[in-house]
Order: sequence, then C-alpha cells, then structure tokens
Amino acid sequence: MNVNYKELAKKYGTPYYVYDFDSIKVNYHAIKDAFKARKSLVCYAVKANSNLSVIKTLANEGSGADCVSIGEVKRALKAGVPNYKIIFSGVGKSDEEIKQALELDILMINVESEAELFRVEIQAKELDKKARISIRVNPNIDPKTHPYISTGLHENKFGVDIDTAKRMYIKAKNSDFLDPVGIHFHIGSQLTELNPIKESSVIVADLVRTLKVIGVEIKFFDIGGGLGIQYKDETLIDPNEYVQAILETLFGLDVTVVCEPGRYIVGNTGEFVTKVLYEKNNGGKRFVVVDGAMNDLIRPSLYNAYHKIEVLNKMDKEKLNCNVVGPICESGDFFAKNIELPMTEHDDLMVIYSAGAYGFTMSSNYNTRNKVCELALENSSVRVIRKRDTFEDQIANEVEFLN
Ligand SMILES: *Cc1c(COP(=O)(O)O)cnc(C)c1O
Repeated sequence: MNVNYKELAKKYGTPYYVYDFDSIKVNYHAIKDAFKARKSLVCYAVKANSNLSVIKTLANEGSGADCVSIGEVKRALKAGVPNYKIIFSGVGKSDEEIKQALELDILMINVESEAELFRVEIQAKELDKKARISIRVNPNIDPKTHPYISTGLHENKFGVDIDTAKRMYIKAKNSDFLDPVGIHFHIGSQLTELNPIKESSVIVADLVRTLKVIGVEIKFFDIGGGLGIQYKDETLIDPNEYVQAILETLFGLDVTVVCEPGRYIVGNTGEFVTKVLYEKNNGGKRFVVVDGAMNDLIRPSLYNAYHKIEVLNKMDKEKLNCNVVGPICESGDFFAKNIELPMTEHDDLMVIYSAGAYGFTMSSNYNTRNKVCELALENSSVRVIRKRDTFEDQIANEVEFLN
C-alpha cells in the first residue's frame, strides 16, 4: 500500500491494520456496475470487516448491509445504511433480536428453519406487524472451498431443503403476520468456481417459478456472497461473468437481484503490520517471533489460510526457511509455516497481506492482549478509525473489582 509503514508504526505503535478505502470503493462498484441496468442491491456482508468507517464508506457509495446479529444491524444503521437496505441473516436469532429487527423495519429477515419462521411470526403478531421475510434455501451443492467456510451442503447447518422451503412459503403466504418477499442462498466463502453458484441459482430460480404458480410472488432473489479473492495464485471469478451466469437462470422472473459480498470488497484492501521481536532456533528450525498473534489475525490458525508476508526493506536479501509465530501460548499461534524470508532484526516491520476481511473482526483479547488499532488510507492521507484497546478497556466490565 502507498503508505509509510515505519512512520505509522512510530506514530500509532504495532501491530496495526491499515485499509485502503479507495480500493474498497472500487471493489464495491466492480460488483454493482456488473448488474448495470438490472434491478439490484449490493448488501455488504458486515461481518467481513465491521468497522463503522468501512460501513459508512460503502453506505455513501449506495451499498446496503447483510447482517448476522442485531449488533451488526445497529452498526449498519449507525454508519448510515438506510433500514430498507438492511438484511438480517444467520442460523440462530434470539426472540429479542427478531423483535428489534421488526421494530427497526429493515428490508427483510432471512429465515433459516421452520422453527425460526414460527418465532418470527409470534414476534410480528405481538408487535402487530407483517414481517418481511426471505427463506434461505440449502441447494445441496458442493462449493469446493474449505470445509469450515462451506455452507451449501445438507451436512452444513445452514438453510432448509427445497421441500421444507416450499412448505414454509405456503405457511408464510397464509399468515397475517408474514410477508414472504425474498429467497436466499449462500453456499460458501472464498469461492473460485462459478459452476456451483450457477447450479445453485438454477435450483433456486426453479423454486421461485414454482412458488409463482402457487401465488407466492418473490421480489428479492438473494444470491449470497462468497466471491473469492487472491491470497496466492487462486483463479478468480470475474464479476461480470458471475452476474451474467446468475441472470441467465432468471428467465421469466421479475426480481431484484441482491448479493452479499464481504471478502471480495474488503479482503485485498487491508494489511496487517507487525514488528519483529526476535529470531530463534529450536533444533535447527528457524522461528521469527513477531508482536502480532493469532488473537489479532486468526485465519492461518483457524483455516490454515495462506497470507503473503514480506519483511520491509529486506526482500532483496537472501531468503531462508522459517515459521512466523506470535507470542501467544499456543502451538497454533502462527502466521506462516515453512516460508522463505530474509534474516530479520529486532524492530523490522513485517506486512501480512490480504488481511482486510475476517481479520480484525475475528480478533479477541486472548492472553489479555489489547485489540490493535485500525487505520484508513483515503485520498493519500491516513487516519485512525479505531484506537488500540487499553488495559482499562479490557477490564471495564469486571465489576466486582471495579466497585
Ligand atoms: C458470510 C456471509 C456472506 C459474505 O461472505 P463472503 O465470503 O465474505 O463474501 C454473505 N452472506 C451470508 C449469509 C453470510 O453468512
């Protein structure tokens, strides 16, 4: 990224995340523009990076928000996303969350089971409202991605099968408190093959045509998110081919296409910057110990995910095999294993690329480590969009000791 990493480290400390807001806007428009004249709504998947400034930047470009908790719905509203562009998804919503979503009058609640439909109806009845809902269909298609981020097979916990969906739509149509306006599928994340998405869309579009015959008019056709990005050498789905493939399955249907990209919009726009503490050797194995850790960026530990790593100002030096590890008391605390890096010195800076999605949002205070600060590059200047935690922030709710 076109920033002075060293200066930022001096000013704000390490580790830190830095995001390129100009690229975030470019990525949003790459998808939005692919729909051209077609009625469409891009709802950014807030869980990928839920910093208010990130959401606000996208809201200003016209983006909606796909949320998976009432907390995310509140973030979206606070950041300026209008309620009629907010979708609430997720496999388990509490009564309180459903109630608040209805009161906030968002675009639709995305229902993931018959039992949940029943709870939504009860809550809507209590508020004397008609709940706009969509139903998440599980098309039982293998998305060919990592099993932890695959969601479109019956063996995954997400959505309902076609027959159950049909039953639910009929129930919703006959209810005074439910308005079935949408249909939804999302088969996985970091997808690099178009075919599974297309096959899913064929199945779900067929269901929409069947529903039409029995008097259920679907207005929103929600194709989920999942578009992959380049971490290493992945082949990518072209947004235009993606949209074209979806539209081809929608013949005879007058629907607004909704999509929910998360990683695609922010993944490659963020970097995690950490400082080298020391090098050590354990029986011939070289370790580079840095000040960032799995609590800051858990993807390598959780998914064995690859992130490109560079040592600043040293990449022309000879490279040797090593593991890059953090200070946390877990063997799983690593950013990379068996990669080639130049020999480092105390205080060298290391950049971990493609960390804009599922980076900070998955971070924790494990080992009583402060969550790091987040910076934004926009129009050639850098600003703080989240301050680093302090020790006091971390203990603030431990009331017994504070009173
Ligand atoms: C996580 C999620 C997304 C976003 O997935 P990406 O792979 O980041 O695009 C979209 N929709 C739903 C329902 C999700 O759970």
